Amino acid sequence: MPTTVTLQNVETLLAALPKAELHLHLEGAIEPATVVELAARHGVAVTAEEVQARYHYRDFNGFLEAFRWVTSFLRTPDDYRLITERLAERLLAQNVAYAEVTLSVGVMLRRKQDPAANFAAICAAGRNAHKKGLRLQWIFDAVRQFGPDAAMEVSSPGGANEIGRRSCLWNGRRRTRASRGEFSRRL
Ligand SMILES: [Zn+2]
Repeated sequence: MPTTVTLQNVETLLAALPKAELHLHLEGAIEPATVVELAARHGVAVTAEEVQARYHYRDFNGFLEAFRWVTSFLRTPDDYRLITERLAERLLAQNVAYAEVTLSVGVMLRRKQDPAANFAAICAAGRNAHKKGLRLQWIFDAVRQFGPDAAMEVSSPGGANEIGRRSCLWNGRRRTRASRGEFSRRL
């Protein structure tokens, strides 16, 4: 007897398929509950309702303001580790096997943080995700409105990008051909 195709079994089928996520921003994918948790770590009382309200912006400037506010709670490497773990959990739950994730290194530099330390924590979470079947690749974002000098700091040889390349190998021995070349896209 032929199987009846229903919306429900199509959804089940799609959910079960392995998937690739090709456009995702680490800082833009933080769930409200995680924002509350991050703020609390830094002594700021924020409710889930406030996060929801800030996530409902009307235009691009509203989006930028929400992004600036959320990233203000990313202050330590462990904060970056936490959001990477949470992102990986969500992607694995959706059966995503591969994701290219943009990371705002320009924001880290703007806030006088150490991108290498942040990225090492991100990569530690990425390696754990890899063991569970999700491969994360990272794209360093220079943030266009910070101007060309700030962008050069992200992309320059010996700058943040090089630090990232050295701190995020999948293991100590093996580097892919891609990671030796265009590492900001294929780390
Ligand atoms: Zn984007």
